[in-house]
Amino acid sequence: MNVKTKLEEATQKLYGKTVKELDDKQLYLAILNMTKDMMKDKGQIKNSKKVYYISAEFLIGKLLSNNLINLGIYDELETVLKAEGKELSCIEEIEPEPSLGNGGLGRLAACFLDSIASLGLCGDGIGLNYHFGLFKQVFVDRQQTAQKNDWIEQQSWLTKTDISFPVYFGKRKVQSRLYDIDVIGYEQGMNKLHLFDIETVDEDIVKDGIDFDKTDIEKNLTLFLYPDDSDEAGHLLRIYQQYFMVCNGAQLILKELKESGYDLHKMNEHVVIQINDTHPTMVIPELIRILTQEEGFEMEEAIDVVSKTCAYTNHTILAEALEKWPVKYLQKVVPQLMPIIWELDKRAAIRYDDPKVQIIDRDLRVHMAHIDIHYGFSVNGVAAIHTEILKGSELNPFYKIYPEKFNNKTNGITFRRWLLSCNKELATCITETIGDEYKKDAAELEKLLAYQNDATFLDQIKAIKQRKKTELAAYLKEKEGQDINPNSIFDIQIKRLHEYKRQQMNALYIIHKYLEIKAGKKPSTPVTFIFGAKAAPAYIIAQDIIHLLLCLEEIVNNDPDVKDYMKVVMVENYNVSYAEKLIPACDISEQISLASKEASGTGNMKFMLNGAVTLGTSDGANVEIHELVGDENIYIFGEKSEAVIKHYEKADYVARNFYENKAVIKEAVDYITSKEVLAVGNTERLERLKNELINKDWFMTLLDLEDYIATKDQMLEDYKNEEKWKKMMLVNIAKAGFFSSDRTIAEYNRDIWKLN
Ligand SMILES: *Cc1c(COP(=O)(O)O)cnc(C)c1O
Repeated sequence: MNVKTKLEEATQKLYGKTVKELDDKQLYLAILNMTKDMMKDKGQIKNSKKVYYISAEFLIGKLLSNNLINLGIYDELETVLKAEGKELSCIEEIEPEPSLGNGGLGRLAACFLDSIASLGLCGDGIGLNYHFGLFKQVFVDRQQTAQKNDWIEQQSWLTKTDISFPVYFGKRKVQSRLYDIDVIGYEQGMNKLHLFDIETVDEDIVKDGIDFDKTDIEKNLTLFLYPDDSDEAGHLLRIYQQYFMVCNGAQLILKELKESGYDLHKMNEHVVIQINDTHPTMVIPELIRILTQEEGFEMEEAIDVVSKTCAYTNHTILAEALEKWPVKYLQKVVPQLMPIIWELDKRAAIRYDDPKVQIIDRDLRVHMAHIDIHYGFSVNGVAAIHTEILKGSELNPFYKIYPEKFNNKTNGITFRRWLLSCNKELATCITETIGDEYKKDAAELEKLLAYQNDATFLDQIKAIKQRKKTELAAYLKEKEGQDINPNSIFDIQIKRLHEYKRQQMNALYIIHKYLEIKAGKKPSTPVTFIFGAKAAPAYIIAQDIIHLLLCLEEIVNNDPDVKDYMKVVMVENYNVSYAEKLIPACDISEQISLASKEASGTGNMKFMLNGAVTLGTSDGANVEIHELVGDENIYIFGEKSEAVIKHYEKADYVARNFYENKAVIKEAVDYITSKEVLAVGNTERLERLKNELINKDWFMTLLDLEDYIATKDQMLEDYKNEEKWKKMMLVNIAKAGFFSSDRTIAEYNRDIWKLN
């Protein structure tokens, strides 16, 4: 049956009407139902060994476009709708974006699910069904405020199952409910994303913004992702959420093993559990608890089989991001797990007397990553430099004990979403040039290198970039009320707000440029600086940086001397859907984290794939991008990671010296509390930020500022050389194949999962 007939059937069934008679919202629901049915028809991917990717976040984004592409019916449906006077792209806008993730880590989990299914591997995701997910960001008085993000509708991709498990927090029992989202591979069968929820959850307890009673577990457990954890109740709620996730996950895995008739004693031959960062770590003691207390295992054997089943991915070396839960918190929330954790600690302590590798430290805090490393069979970093830093410094004591466990898996992104779906024009142009094998084998993109001197092709990719910039300008006009010049250079930094990512350094550049223009030094090509970032509600300095950016937006865009040369736009509520509009329009991709701090980054890969040129430090996957494209096709600046690590060891970085000794730096930093900025901003926030930069600057903004200014100025200059720029675009696109998550997942499977 063709798509036209299927669609007509779906609209008749749902509304008793034809396509023409329906509005976009009704059509969206009909297409949703049709697509879900067609995915079901593809059937489940089956195998004797299965991977469970367990993660507190799955930042999946809207699903319609991707599912249609993976089913291979996007173009056909678009044509059918057009004949009835309907636009598929408008219908896609109706879909609410699921809010189940925070940033790169959650987006990675989503890309991985797509690639696992697209490679035909048997593997499901396990996570939580947060009703309001991550907060929705709203700017009020140039400051971030948080609203609940109400994304679940009556009809959606979620399917309620009849699976429900009891979960005990000590003696307190709650009953879970499993919802599934089908994950269809590209021209492949289907896996599932399992999202656990609790039926007693009460959305009405959320009053103002995102405030609610954090102690009422039955009502609040799956309301929010990462609820504010600035107080004890917030910490406890996170532990409740984490245990709820892993307890359900463990029960589901064991249920599926038993239903397949497999021997639990050989669990590791049929299951591998990939633990995404430390949030799901408790799955290890929980499985051991169930096996010993309910399945008759001896402790020794339970530990052995679980250790052969679990693998851990590390995502950060930031000490504050490595979870260490106080024993007393765990004792309060999950008393049944503490005896197991003490046992695991005891066994590790007997074998290794180094305090650095102990699970429970002298302050009675449980180091979650240490559980994963001792009692998992694989530890991977997410980019080459990150894995080397783990081995060489952060996790060196563990590397010495278990060198065979450590391995690197450089992150990747799914090309179905980040090229085929978000930049159809570029995808079509590439297909017309080198055929469409690159859609299944991204390394094929390298064939584009043969077109480096092909004026027609180079002009095409430049024209597509221009078209995407014009589209974005129209969108920003509508959404943000900002008028930007589509012929200006689009310089974009979009990612979670964090001092290590150094949005504040970009802000100082903007101040510097602004002051130069005010002093009469006009740039020959206008520039638009675009930001998108949410800051954790309890992270004050991050809020201050957002405030500064919004103040700069106000000042720069309204200054008649300046606004024709530069503009600043901070978009509200940056999310996956916004990323899909911003990335294809970007000229300069800002990847300026302090070297050694960004484990990998994946935004950098999305930009490159869409023909943006990277301005970056030697950090995370930037290092591998640099190696691939060569010096001529990337702009690298700043101190290298070895030097940065030395600065931390010696504690010899003094921000104030840079501030006092470099006029350019002083001028930019002082402007933060100038009368112009104070006139539109909040004195407390601006003074706190300025003080932080001069007196602390933990992420060494001022260290790299001069080099950053010089390198970015060079880049803006080079943009004028159209021939050079177009070639850089082409090389970046052509070399992006390595960063396909299909490659990453093939490596996970080859080295860790070993599914057939
Ligand atoms: C890719 C992506 C990220 C990760 O960006 P980084 O620059 O790697 O930090 C964060 N948020 C969204 C919405 C993304 O799509």
